[in-house]
This record gives sequence, structure tokens and C-alpha cells, in this order.
Amino acid sequence: MNIELDPSSTPDRDELDLDVSVAKSLFVGRITEENLFPYPRIGADEAETLAMVSNSLDNFLQDNQEEFPRWDRESAQPEAFLKSLRELGLFGLIIPEDYGGIGLSNAGYTRVVEQLSSYDSSAALTVTAHSSIGMKGLLLFGTDEQKARYLPKLASGEMIAAFCLTESGSGSDAASVKTKAEKNQDGSWTLNGEKIWITNGGIADFYTVFARTGNDAGELSAFFVERSWRGVNTGAKEDKMGIRASSTTSVSFSDVTVPAENLLGRQGQGFKIAMSILNNGRTGLGGGSVGGMKACIALATAQALERKQFGQSIAEFGLIKTKIAQMAIDCFAAESVVWMVAHYIDSGCNDYSMEAAISKVFASEAMQRVANEALQIAGGNGYMKEFPYEQIVRDSRILTIFEGTSEILRLYIALSGMKEAGRLMEELAESVEDVFNNPIKGLGVLSEYAGRRIAQITPFRRDKMVSCVPATLRNEALIYDKYASELGRVADVLLRRHGKEIVSKQLAMKRLADIVIDLFVGLSVLARASSFTDDGETRYQQAINVAKLFTQQAKRRMNQNFRRIMRNEDDDLKQLAQFIFSERAYPWDVL
Ligand SMILES: Cc1cc2nc3c(=O)[nH]c(=O)nc-3n(C[C@H](O)[C@H](O)[C@H](O)COP(=O)(O)OP(=O)(O)OC[C@H]3O[C@@H](n4cnc5c(N)ncnc54)[C@H](O)[C@@H]3O)c2cc1C
Repeated sequence: MNIELDPSSTPDRDELDLDVSVAKSLFVGRITEENLFPYPRIGADEAETLAMVSNSLDNFLQDNQEEFPRWDRESAQPEAFLKSLRELGLFGLIIPEDYGGIGLSNAGYTRVVEQLSSYDSSAALTVTAHSSIGMKGLLLFGTDEQKARYLPKLASGEMIAAFCLTESGSGSDAASVKTKAEKNQDGSWTLNGEKIWITNGGIADFYTVFARTGNDAGELSAFFVERSWRGVNTGAKEDKMGIRASSTTSVSFSDVTVPAENLLGRQGQGFKIAMSILNNGRTGLGGGSVGGMKACIALATAQALERKQFGQSIAEFGLIKTKIAQMAIDCFAAESVVWMVAHYIDSGCNDYSMEAAISKVFASEAMQRVANEALQIAGGNGYMKEFPYEQIVRDSRILTIFEGTSEILRLYIALSGMKEAGRLMEELAESVEDVFNNPIKGLGVLSEYAGRRIAQITPFRRDKMVSCVPATLRNEALIYDKYASELGRVADVLLRRHGKEIVSKQLAMKRLADIVIDLFVGLSVLARASSFTDDGETRYQQAINVAKLFTQQAKRRMNQNFRRIMRNEDDDLKQLAQFIFSERAYPWDVL
């Protein structure tokens, strides 16, 4: 699949406020237009490099297209394929040129991953497990000496990287790892433990390993460990549902001596490092999802146009048409939000973790919806191994599980937002006292709060949002404006009602997360559609149409979520679950 590039585009994000998180601001009812408009574009220089990478990648992937299903069946990527990935420079995509890499930005990298995964998810995963997570810690936190030692080998693919966090007892609860590193008198460390389900485990030579280094639970540190060291072993290849050609194994450490200079960052910084790597790497999975969706849309449209039933092409039927339209909306929305987040990372934004989580949740779930619909449009053919659909469905199933499950990320999204809302409320409470002790500070916070409240109920802010979009998208801008205000109000109410207990209200948190996902994805769609030039062509008009359709759908979902935060049957559902747990099975029968 050839992905078109737009080399004429130029960066235009001078006014980005690096300290602002758009998504967190939504929780206090504020839309920070300066970080959304104009929609980012890739720089001309990078577009040129990207076009070259893209062309050679297309030729290479087309040559291997027939082989991918076989490698899926055989559950292996041949060494010759890995060698080609090395020769194409695919292990050095984000490594700076000084160290022998291609030096792409996060956005450029995301685009390459998109292209890779439009051909084969396992191929994309081999590259992303290396770049997005395996050696990302070295790029983000490594010392100059560590970079000089490892980056050239990682760029050439002489060393492939893997990220080792998960253990049998420690999945979503990443802080509970048991692998232990004990400090020796000479400053080196002795590492013991076992990691499971490590992508690239069997082919990697460079592992970023997280281990406990203190007696306190959660005191983690990160280390670089080489496969060739004594005591490092990998298990058998896992027999998986999907992404079967990609290597997934356990990696164990038995009295492995890790030199002092292989500690990454400072002792005790491991958890923060792990989370930073995952946040920074999320656009890899997002880009992969977008590439998968584009491939599905191409397959499904061809299938729908060619297949005839009831004397006509099934593409004529309304039920099939709306599936195709929905797939396009999902893909456009995912692409818009993933690209936006990639640019936040490239611009040096200090706080993008919530936006990154939103892009991962939305893009991965959109990919699963699109894959299912593509299979459905193909009917019985979709179920047959002779066709690509069943593999795509199997491959995409992992997306909502690894690198943070959808459940955990939704909780994270809502909690981060509520923390922001709570911070402002705490400042407000303090400022009431400060009005007497420190009038300048106290009144300052009070007036910020008052300003926000006034902004929520006056049309003043609306002018700002509306001025960012073309006239045809004015109503959509007003919808996001209104629902952001409502989110700010509801977050306020929930915090007052539940205080810190809000953490345990998972269903309310999920609904808040879904609202902010719709808002941030919708605003990204709006910004992107607003950046297109009105040339009177259908492609432009349909992009505007997509923005309108997404907004209407998001509005319906948000209305339902707001309603159900206040009125729901959650307690009854939980009671039912409790009963089923006690029975340990479905307890009814018609006999
Ligand atoms: C193919 C594959 C490749 C992988 N690659 C890597 C890798 O390269 N490196 C690595 O370190 N790890 C890797 N993993 C591990 C992966 O990141 C974990 O599987 C994932 O984090 C989830 O952990 P878990 O499987 O233990 O599920 P659990 O944490 O046991 O979760 C089970 C279910 O409970 C839900 N849940 C958990 N806690 C809560 C909560 N507080 N509230 C509500 N719901 C909750 C989860 O969302 C999930 O639905 C890989 C896994 C797979 C399957």
C-alpha cells in the first residue's frame, strides 16, 4: 500500500505552550486553542527523507507480501528478513544521525510504522518493540557514554532491543515487580528474576530491564543488560493468537552481573523511566493502528464493490455503505489524534502523557472495530485463512492489551484529569485563607477560578474557538466548547461529592475518560479538517463531512456518558457480578 506524503507542508507551531496539557485543561473546562490550531504539519526537510524511506519500504514490503501469511503460520520471521530490516535502516529510524541512525522525528517515525503495519503487524512490531520501547530509555535518559556505547549498534540493527517489565505476578500493576538487583561492593549489581511475554525477547541482544533495588515495594531501577552475559536466558517462543511471526519469549536473569555503568538514570527512578518510555512510545502503536485501518479500508472497499448478491454489488446496500463510512471516520479520527500527539512530543511539550494515552486507547479500539467490520463485509471469505481478514483480526486483538490495557489507560486518563481539577480546587481552598494572610496570592487564585467560571457561562471564549475554524465548522466548534465546559462543571461536582474517594469510582472514571477521549480526539479532527484548503474538490468536502459526522457521534456519546455519570444501574450490575463470582459460573438453565 502506497501512503501519500505531502512534501510541500511546513511546520507551523510557533505558539505552542509547552507547559500546557490540552486534555488536562479540558477537565477544568478550558480549551487551549493555541495547542490545537493550526493543525501540525511535517517539515519539508523531513518530508523529503520520509518520502525516500517510504518508497524503498514499499518496494521491499511488496516483495515480501506473499510471505507474511506463511511466516504467521510458521510463527517465525526468517533471519534473511531481519537482515533486510537492518539494511533498510529500520532499526535506526529514531536514532540521531550522529550515531548512525536516520534521525526521524516522532511524527516521521509514526508514519513509517503506519506504512509497515499496513503490510504486516508482526514486521511492524519487531521494529516498534525495538524503537518505541526497547531502546527508548537509552535515548531519553542515557548518559553520553551509554549512548556512544550502544546507539551505533542499535541503529545498525547489530543489536536488537527489547523492553523487560512484565512478570508473571506483575502486569498492569507494574510497580510490583519481583526481579531484584542487589548492589555489590564494587558498585556493580547482581540481577535475579524472570520477565515474561517480552516482544523481541528471542532475537534481542539489548534488554532494558526493570528491577527492585530497595526494600520498599515500588522502588525500581532500570538497567541495560546484554544477552551475551552469563546468566541471561530466553525461553521458548510463545504460541500466540496473533502477531505470530513476532518473537515473544520469557527472559530470565540468574545471578547476572550488571556493571555500575549500566544503571539507567538514577537508582530508584525506574518506575518513572518505565512510564516515560511507554508514554513517549505510544504513537508507535497508534501509527500501527492507523496503517492497519488503511489496509482494511482498501480491502473492504474492493470486496464490497466486487461482491454481488441479490443481483447487485453489496456496496449498493445501506448497511454496507455505513460500515465503510464508519471505518473511514474511525481512521481519520485516529490519524488526526495520533499525529497531533506525535507533534506534541516533537515540539518538546512537557506534559503529554494523558494525550498519548487517549491516542493509544482510541486508535487501538478503532483498529479493532475496523478489522471486525472488514471481516464482516467479506462474509464467509473473511473467516477463511485464504484471505487476510482473519489474520488482521487476530493481530489487532493485542492492541488493547499490551503497553497499557484500555481499562488501565482509561483510569489513568480520568485520574490525571481529576488531579488537575483537584489541584485547582485545593488552590482555591487555600486561597480563601490566603486572602487574609497573603492577599496577592489568594486573590490571584480566586480570580483565576472566577475567570474560569465566568468563561464557562459567557460567549467570550466561544469567539476564540470559532475564529480557529472555517465557517462551515462553526457549529462543531461550539459543540466542543459547550461540552468542555460541561466536563469542567461535572468534574467539579464529582470532586466535591467524592473527594479522594473518586479514585475508587471506576465506572464514573471510565465515563469521564470516554468524554475526554471524545473531546480531545474530536478537537484533533476539527483542527485537522480546518487545516485543509477549500479547493472545491470532493476530497475537501468529505473531510469536512467527516469532522461533522465525528462531532455528531461524539456529542451523542458524551450526552449519554454525562447522563449516566449521574443516573445509572452500576450498583445493580456490581451486585449481579458479585453473585456470579459466588456461583463461579452462569447459574441458570432452561431444564
Ligand atoms: C503478545 C504480548 C507482547 C507483550 N510484550 C511485552 C513487552 O515487550 N514487554 C513487557 O514488559 N510486557 C509485554 N507484554 C505484557 C503486557 O504489557 C501485559 O500483558 C499488560 O500490561 C497487561 O498485564 P496482564 O496481562 O498481567 O493483565 P492483568 O494486569 O492481570 O489484567 C487483567 C485484566 O484486568 C484488568 N485490570 C487490571 N487492573 C485493573 C484495575 N485496577 N481496575 C480495573 N481493571 C483492571 C486489565 O485491564 C485486564 O483486562 C506483552 C504481552 C503480550 C500478550
